[in-house]
Order: sequence, then C-alpha cells, then structure tokens
Amino acid sequence: MSVINSNNINIIIYKYKLIGEILKLYNSLSRDMEELIPLNDRKINMFVCGQTVYDDAHIGHAKTYINFDVIVRWLRFKGYEVKYVQNITDVDDKIIKRARENGISPIELAREYENKLMEDMDSIGVKNNVSVYPRSHDYIEQIREQIQLLIEGGYAYAIDGDIYYNVSKFGDYTKLSGMSLNELKEHRIEPKEGKINVYDFALWKSSKLDEPSWDITLNIGGKNEVFKGRPGWHIEDTAMTATVFGPQYDIHGGAKELMFPHHTNEIAQAEAAFNKKPFVKYWLHSGVLNIKGEKMSKSLKNFITIRDVVKKYGAEALRLMVESTHYRKDIDFDVKLLEEAANRLSVMYTALSMFYNMESGTNNESKLLLQRIEEYKKEFGEAMDNDFNTPLALSRISAMLDEIRNFSEKNNKVGTDEKNKILNIVGEVGRVIGILDKDFYKKTITEELKGLIEKRANFRKEGKFGEADAIRDKLNELDIGIEDRDGQTIWYWKYVSASAAF
Ligand SMILES: [Zn+2]
Repeated sequence: MSVINSNNINIIIYKYKLIGEILKLYNSLSRDMEELIPLNDRKINMFVCGQTVYDDAHIGHAKTYINFDVIVRWLRFKGYEVKYVQNITDVDDKIIKRARENGISPIELAREYENKLMEDMDSIGVKNNVSVYPRSHDYIEQIREQIQLLIEGGYAYAIDGDIYYNVSKFGDYTKLSGMSLNELKEHRIEPKEGKINVYDFALWKSSKLDEPSWDITLNIGGKNEVFKGRPGWHIEDTAMTATVFGPQYDIHGGAKELMFPHHTNEIAQAEAAFNKKPFVKYWLHSGVLNIKGEKMSKSLKNFITIRDVVKKYGAEALRLMVESTHYRKDIDFDVKLLEEAANRLSVMYTALSMFYNMESGTNNESKLLLQRIEEYKKEFGEAMDNDFNTPLALSRISAMLDEIRNFSEKNNKVGTDEKNKILNIVGEVGRVIGILDKDFYKKTITEELKGLIEKRANFRKEGKFGEADAIRDKLNELDIGIEDRDGQTIWYWKYVSASAAF
C-alpha cells in the first residue's frame, strides 16, 4: 500500500509535472469564479480552520477535511508547492467544561482528543498532507503582539480585563459575508456591558478563578497593564498564519458556517493589524453534512464518528461518498450513501483486478485502449481545474475503469507497455481522490487455484452446472470472483468488506 508520508515527498513527486491548464476556483470574497494566481509564483500558502479538541471527530468533520485534502492533492499534482496549515484549538470554553465534567485538566483532555483526531485524520488519508498542525497554546505571545498592534491602531479597547475589537473602526467589515449592519445586530455576540458596538468581539477574555489563564502585558495609552486570561477564538488563526505565512496568503478554507463571524473577524483583525489587503486572496467554503435535515454536530448529539464509519465501510468508501458531492454543496447523509460508495468501489476494484491480472503480450487493440484512457485522464483534469469538480472527475475514473473492464472481457492479452501506462494513470487519478490505493488485487494466484478455475470452466462446457457452481462457491470463499463472458471465464480478486480489505 503506498501512503504518501510527508509533504516533502509530495513536492518531490509532483515537482516535475508542471502546471498545464488554468485552474479556476470559486472565491467567496468576490462571489465569483477566478483564475488561481498565487501571490508567490508556484508556492501556495493555505490555511483551513481545524478542530476544537474536546470530543471524537464525526463524519461532518470528515467532509470538511476530505474536501480540502483533495484540493491540496490536486494543487500538488499540478506542481504547486503547497504549505498547508490546519490549527488545533486547545484553549476553549468547551474544553474547559468537558474537562471539568471528566475531572481532568483541560490540557490533558485536549491532548487526548488531539491524539484521537490525528489517528482519525491518518486513517482517512488526510494527516500526512497537512504540513503543520499548530496549537493555540503555543501562540499566546504572537496573539499578545497582534492585540498590541490593534490597540495601537485604535481598533481594540479594554473593559474590565477583556479586550474587544471595535468593529465600527474597520470599514469593510462585512465584505466577506455580504451582511448588512442590521443583520449583524441580530447576532448577539458575546454580550457585555460597556461594549462600543453590540457586535464587537473579544480578542482576549479575562479568566475566572479556576480556569486556565496566561498573564499578558499590554501597553495601553503609554501604560503597561497585565491582563490575566485567554485568547478569543478568532485571534488564534491570524496569530498563527501571520507567524507561519506572514500578513498575506493565498487560500483560506473552512466550512461555510464559519464565514460569519469567524472568517469575517479574521479579516478585520489581520487587515487592521498589518494594513495589507487582501489578507487572504481566495476564500473557499465547503458545504456541511446534514442528517435528517439537521447539521451533524456535537451539540445536537446526532453524530456518527469517523472511527465507526472507517471500521465498517473503510476509509476509501467514506472518501468516495464525500467526493461524490461537490465540495461547496451540502450532503444529506444517509447510510445508503456509504453503501453505494462501497459498491461503486467494489465495481472499480473488480475492473482493476481483471485488468491487472491479464496476461501480457502482443495486442494491437491495447494502443487504442491507452489512447482512450489518456483522454479520460485529460477530462479528469479539466473537471478538477473547474473549481475541483470531484463528482465529474469521479465519473471519468468510472468511465476509465468501465473501458478497462470491457477490454479485459473481450481480450486475452494486453501489451506490456500499455498495461503499465494504464495502471499508472489509474494510480495517479486514484491518488488525487484518495481511492484505489489497496493492493489486494495484486496477489499472485496459485497454480492450484488456477487449476480449479479451469476445472470449473470444463464442467460448464460439459453441462455439469452443479459441480461448476460448487467450485464457484469455494472460490468465492477464497475471495476470488468469477465472470463468464462469451465462452470465456475471467477471474478477479474480490474487494471485500472494510475489515478484511483494510
Ligand atoms: Zn478558524
């Protein structure tokens, strides 16, 4: 099984596949399709809002992280050097509350769920494509520096131990969400006496007695003051990205419900602190995963964990299910979708197994097959270049495999060179999506089993269907599937359930 181990390896692999066609993507900021032109040649800095680690990750989270993982895979495939950062929020009210319930410290709880999250992200092929997972805990000093800049610029003010951002000071506050100020007023954000505007948000919150806290010193009006507390939610992202990328970067992703207030506040913080516009060139927002009409969420307790789904259906089925819908659209989850994805994978692997196990030799038809597969690969690329249209891209993989299967059913041999090239293409497109990476179908078949397959074919010729079926059942138990076409018998290694194949 080939797993891509590090960002560096990715870069090496993809470095020489130079960027060909133009990639267009939908930018939430302009509400339009735009051509991707990175700030710095072929380097792309990309940030996606990560998890608050206080509970198990569910398949709603899987949708977000798989959606952005495919985007990163495609950008790297096209030859871009992508630095992909995803934060881990380990300072948060929900963590404090849950830790208290469990009788452990917030940091212990956060580490426990961070470890579990890493296992989950690894199991669905996401973790190794993320370059850095910074934790909010490690960025307190950078958060302090940014708050200080905002105070100096007149954007931030203190009310008994808290620091707030004065939204009315920042002209373009609603440019990302497109909301009116009246709509903003309907969101009662962090009510507190003495705030200048109702929608001003906290940059720093004072801590109650038994809550985790840091002492930061801020200079307000020429006087140093110590603020005992913890950061507000929005500031950790901009403190991290300013440190890792600088004041401006290429792509910011996240689920669409983060557009307001979270991403809106990130823009207000960064553009006010560093006076560089735009803070982020392309804003990408993914749809959510709903279950029975409601968003899957920890607070609604209607969630299914990534762990359970991977155990039952396998990671590739989960990825295939997620990518069968365009990343900007919502998924109305039903367990049937996972079953369909598992079936579709099985069809794909059956074709791949039939083709892989074909005998090599001279066959002029092979060239024609290779041409068609190359054509499908081109269409796959066009779909991905059009705002990462994975459902269309997947349909091109399916078409590729249908073609391969047809060929395997009609031919006894395939040209060696063409066979290798075709298998490489299938491997390449599969890796972008994160499927077809299992190697069970490459197992060598024993002479004994080959003999059995032949014996069964002979029984059929003699009309001894009872005997033939008995052999078929036996082969089935050994994970070998059989197809009879035009007097020919084709065998393949079966793609079996998650637990056996993964
Ligand atoms: Zn965030």
